[in-house]
Amino acid sequence: MATIFTRIVEGEIPSYKIAESKDFYAFLDINPLAKGHTLVIPKKEVDYIFDVEDNLYKELFLFAKKTGKAIESVIPCKRVGIIVFGLDVPHAHIHLIPINKASDMSFESPKLSLEKEEFEEISSAIRSAFGKM
Ligand code: AMP
Repeated sequence: MATIFTRIVEGEIPSYKIAESKDFYAFLDINPLAKGHTLVIPKKEVDYIFDVEDNLYKELFLFAKKTGKAIESVIPCKRVGIIVFGLDVPHAHIHLIPINKASDMSFESPKLSLEKEEFEEISSAIRSAFGKM
């Protein structure tokens, strides 16, 4: 059965899209730790990130880098943190999280609850920045 992220890529489940290429897709995390919290995935369904084939793995991180640069150009923050868990969704994904201090990366912290309009505003701004890179 297709993963929830494959269903997002295929447009079956809506997402706040940030960027897309032939092989990759980036979209806002629906339970964000911070405004601009983004997930970057390979379209190819691979559960564990270290099972992603070498070339695709390198390209995935380059795509995440470009996405991170777009995020930091829009969301005020010290850095964009990068982390991989993959304990919940069995489809490799990189979390990109705007942070000002280490604890901003803690998944123990309460998630933000944003309105649809805020998600749309944030994704549109980051998408536009990504398009200019
Ligand atoms: P993990 O697999 O532990 O890295 O966590 C999966 C992440 O995917 C969580 O941060 C969820 O909030 C996020 N997530 C799950 N479903 C969706 C969805 N439909 N749209 C956006 N993000 C999602």
